Amino acid sequence: MEQTQIPGVPVPASRIGLGTWAMGGYQWGGADDDESVRTIHAALDENVNLIDTAPAYGFGHSEEVVGRAIAERGGRDRVVIATKVGLERRGDALYRNSTRRQILTEVDESLRRLRTDYIDLYFVHWPDPATALDETAQALSDLQAAGKIRAVGVSNYSVEEMQRFGLVTPIVSAQPPLNLFERQAEQDVLPYCRLNAITTLTYGALCRGLLSGSIDQDTRFTGDDLRQSDPKFQPPRFEQYLNAVRQLEHYARERYGKSLLSLAVRWVLDQPGVSVALWGPRHPEELAPVKEVLGWHLDDEALGVIDDIVAKSVHDPVGPEFMAPPQRAAL
Ligand code: NAP
Repeated sequence: MEQTQIPGVPVPASRIGLGTWAMGGYQWGGADDDESVRTIHAALDENVNLIDTAPAYGFGHSEEVVGRAIAERGGRDRVVIATKVGLERRGDALYRNSTRRQILTEVDESLRRLRTDYIDLYFVHWPDPATALDETAQALSDLQAAGKIRAVGVSNYSVEEMQRFGLVTPIVSAQPPLNLFERQAEQDVLPYCRLNAITTLTYGALCRGLLSGSIDQDTRFTGDDLRQSDPKFQPPRFEQYLNAVRQLEHYARERYGKSLLSLAVRWVLDQPGVSVALWGPRHPEELAPVKEVLGWHLDDEALGVIDDIVAKSVHDPVGPEFMAPPQRAAL
C-alpha cells in the first residue's frame, strides 16, 4: 500500500481511503450493516487503514458502523479515523452550523458512536458563512489541545476561507472533491495545499459510481438515491458522461490492461498535491481492484489522452455543487 504521513497522526495512512458515506444508508438507497462491517474489514485486510466518515452520513449511522467494525476487529491504534463536524440536523435536513457550541456537542457524539476517545482527523464538513471562521477554528484548536482530536481539517473550503481559518489554527488537512470529471480543485485548493504542506484527502474518486464501470444508460436509481437529483445522471448530460466513460474504459484496457475504475483512482492519486484518494465501496468484493490501482503511474501522454476524451465528450460539464447543504440564513 502507498502511504502518507499526516502531521500529528502517528500511524502512516494509506493513500487509498475508505469512504463510508453510502454505509450510512440515507441518500444511497439503504445499507446492510453486516455487509458494511465486512467491507471495512476487507479494506483493513488490504491495508486500507484510513477510514473517512461523518455524522451527516445516515445521521450518525455511518460512524456507528465504523465504530462497530473497528471494535470487532481490534487495533484501533492502527486505523486513521477521519470524521467531520458542522452540519446540524433539522428533521430530515442538514444545515451548516460551525458554531463553537455545535462543535463541542458534536465531537462527543462522534466519539461515542465511533467507540473511541480520539479522532485522528477532524474536518469542518462545509464552510458556514453565518459563523465567524475564527470561532470555528478556535473551537477545533481547543479540541486538539484537549486530546479529543489529533489534527484539524477543513472540507469544501475555498482558498480564501482556508487562509483566514489558518490565521487562528494551522490546517493539517483539506478535503475537496476531485475525480476525472470534477477538477476544480486542480486550479485552487490543490496548489494552495502543496504550497503550504497541507495533506489532502480528495473525495468522490469514482464520481458517485460513474467511473466504476458498472453504470450505463440502463442503470436506474431508486428510493432516496441522491443520483436521482445529480445533474450528471440526468439527460442530456448523462449520455455525454457515459460517452466519455466508454472511451476511457477502452483506453484503460488498450493502453494499460486495466479497468476504468483503476484508471480513475490512479488518475486521482497521480495528481500533484493529492495525498489520499477517497473511494466508496460498500461490498467486500468491490475492494478487489485495490491491488490493480497500485504499482504503476499514468504518463504524460496518457494524461493528455484522458483530458482530450473528457473535453471532447462532455460539452456541458457540471460540478458537484448540487451536494452543498443549505446555509442557516437560507432556511
Ligand atoms: P465514489 O467512491 O466516487 O463512488 C461511490 C460509488 O462507487 C458507489 O455507488 C459504489 O457502488 C461504487 N463503487 C465503489 N467501488 C466499486 C467497485 N469496485 N465496483 C463497482 N462500483 C463501485 O463516491 P463517494 O461515496 O461520493 O465518495 C467517496 C467518499 O468521499 C465518501 O464515502 C465520503 O467518505 C467522502 N465524501 C466526502 C464529501 C465531503 O463533503 N467532504 C462529499 C462526498 C464524499 P454501489 O452503489 O454498488 O455501492
